[in-house]
Amino acid sequence: MDIPRLFTITESAHRIHNPFTAEKLATLGAVLRLKPGTRILDLGSGSGEMLCTWARDYGITGVGVDMSRLFSGQAKRRARELGVTERVTFIHGDATGYVSKDKIDVAACVGATWIGGGVAGTIDLLAKSLCDGGMILIGEPYWLRVPPTEDVARGCCANAVSDFLTLPELLASFGDLGYDVVEMVLADREGWDRYEAAKWLTMRRWLEANPGDDFAEEVRTRLTLEPTRYATYTRNSLGWGVFALMAR
Ligand code: SAH
Repeated sequence: MDIPRLFTITESAHRIHNPFTAEKLATLGAVLRLKPGTRILDLGSGSGEMLCTWARDYGITGVGVDMSRLFSGQAKRRARELGVTERVTFIHGDATGYVSKDKIDVAACVGATWIGGGVAGTIDLLAKSLCDGGMILIGEPYWLRVPPTEDVARGCCANAVSDFLTLPELLASFGDLGYDVVEMVLADREGWDRYEAAKWLTMRRWLEANPGDDFAEEVRTRLTLEPTRYATYTRNSLGWGVFALMAR
C-alpha cells in the first residue's frame, strides 16, 4: 500500500507537504492554545512535522496515519530526532474510515481531505474520533481568484473550478455543516514558494541520481514545465489555510 510514486519523488525532501512554513505551523499550534497532554489524531500526517513539533513545543500527544511508506518512516525518524517518541505514534496505513479507539481532543486532516471524500465527509469522519467540545482541523485550498475557465483550474492542478471554493464560501460552508470556525491560519506566497519550488531541486537531484529510472522521463518533463506552470497559475490563484472548527 502506498501513494503514487511521483509524490514520493517530488516531496521526498519536504518536512511539510503543504504551503505552510515551519513558522506557520508553529503559529497554528500557538493560536490553538494547546495544553500539555492534548490528544491529537492526524489523518494524512505526512512526514509528521505537525505532531512532532507540537509534541516538542506544546507537550501534546498524537497519532498520525499516513499511506506513504516513505513519509511515515520519515515521521518516525523526526520523532526520534526531536526526542518525542514517547508522545507520538505513526501508523503506515490507509486512513479512509479511520476512527480512533479512544476519543481525542483534536482531530486533524491537513491537506488530504480526499481521505473522507471531500471536506464535508472528512469532517464527519474526524468527528467520530472526537470528544465532546473537541476541535477539528481542516487544511484545504481555496480560490484567491476564481479561474475564468476550466483550463485555468487545471493549470492550478485542480480537476475543475468546482473543486474549491473562495475563502468566504469555504468559511460559510463550515457554518452550513454546523461548525463554528474558531481559528484559521492562512498560507502566504512564501509558503507556496517553499512548497512548490522545493520540489524542483528535489527533482533535479533525483534525475541526476536515477537517470535510467522508468520515471525519469516524466520527472524531466515536470521539472521543465513546473516553474512556469506554478508562476502562471497556482501562485496567483490558489490560497491555502488550516481552519479550526468546533461543533455548534
Ligand atoms: N498533513 C501532512 C501531509 C499532507 S500531504 C502535512 O501537512 O505535511 C497529503 C498526505 O496524505 C500525504 O502524506 C499522503 O501520503 C497522505 N495520504 C494520501 N492518501 C491517503 C490515505 N488514503 N490514507 C492516509 N494517508 C493518505
